[in-house]
Amino acid sequence: MSAVILVTGGTGLVGKAIEYVIENEPQGSRFAKRPGEKWIFASSRDADLRDPKQTLELFEKYQPTHVIHLAALVGGLFANRERKATFLRDNMLINDNVLHTARIKKVQKVISCLSTCVFPDKIDYPLTEEKVHLGPPHDSNFGYAYAKRMVDVQNHAYKEEFGCNFTSAIPTNVFGPHDNFNLRHAHVIPALIHKCYLAKKNGTPFKVMGDGSPLRQFIYSRDLAKLFIWQLREYDDVEPVIFSVDENDEISIRDVANAIVEVMKYDLGAQFENEPNDNGQDRKPASNAKLMKLIGEFKFTPFKEALRESVAWFLDNYDNART
Ligand code: NDP
Repeated sequence: MSAVILVTGGTGLVGKAIEYVIENEPQGSRFAKRPGEKWIFASSRDADLRDPKQTLELFEKYQPTHVIHLAALVGGLFANRERKATFLRDNMLINDNVLHTARIKKVQKVISCLSTCVFPDKIDYPLTEEKVHLGPPHDSNFGYAYAKRMVDVQNHAYKEEFGCNFTSAIPTNVFGPHDNFNLRHAHVIPALIHKCYLAKKNGTPFKVMGDGSPLRQFIYSRDLAKLFIWQLREYDDVEPVIFSVDENDEISIRDVANAIVEVMKYDLGAQFENEPNDNGQDRKPASNAKLMKLIGEFKFTPFKEALRESVAWFLDNYDNART
């Protein structure tokens, strides 16, 4: 069967990982490229998806039968806090244009990407799929969070009114090759990798904010890529699925920093600044029970191995990486 799969945001951390898996997974694997499949990885240079005309032109150019919709205005804590209206509006425009165009162009299936930071701030843990709308999100990123939540609302509305096969995924913290390593805007793992690199290069201390105690679930981008490929082929329900490692595989920021020190062979070790105010939430575990029940067999890459691959990519691509 022939299929044209358009990946919006195809040049980012997650999009590049899907491209890697599609190009490198051995034939016979559940996640390998199948005969008749054509994959398109689009960036903002192919179309600014905030613009309905450019969105339509992109769909008319490639005539996708399936869409994995990753494109988003993504940012760290600071950008989210300072630019709430921009995060809300840009992401709502992008999502509305993609879903509307997918409907009028009769795309067979769209998977959109949410994030665990869309969940309510005050909620019982673990996070599960049915808790997305049960209270306001954390104040620091409510623009981004509400825009993302609306995708789930839109998916339900499009299914009920037009019978569209639209669904979504909710990944926890992602890391891997092609990440954003910018010291001001990066997420915790790429930021710490970059900091440790500079500390080693300059012979300065590797300082880590907070006391290192918060626990988080991290998913390797290439594992996440396989889950998107699975969802594209094997999951046909409107309700979202959380994409995460097991709740018992939470890892502390202290252990993350120490693992980076080990992988980067930095002799002086990490220094924790021990300011509990810098910690953020202690933990916000998400359940992967629904995913594991549906997918059956799936082996996540061990954290150290995934970190080694990410660091190797960063060192090999320092000049061109987002630093
Ligand atoms: P990146 O920032 O690495 O990539 C963003 C992608 O979106 C790029 O390809 C970018 O294109 C594209 N894009 C941004 N704005 C526009 C626009 N106006 N029009 C068209 N394309 C645009 O993001 P990630 O790969 O990290 O994130 C992918 C998805 O995963 C997002 O939806 C994000 O919300 C979600 N997510 C990410 C997590 C993480 O930890 N990184 C955690 C949970 C969810 P260009 O390269 O041209 O700028």
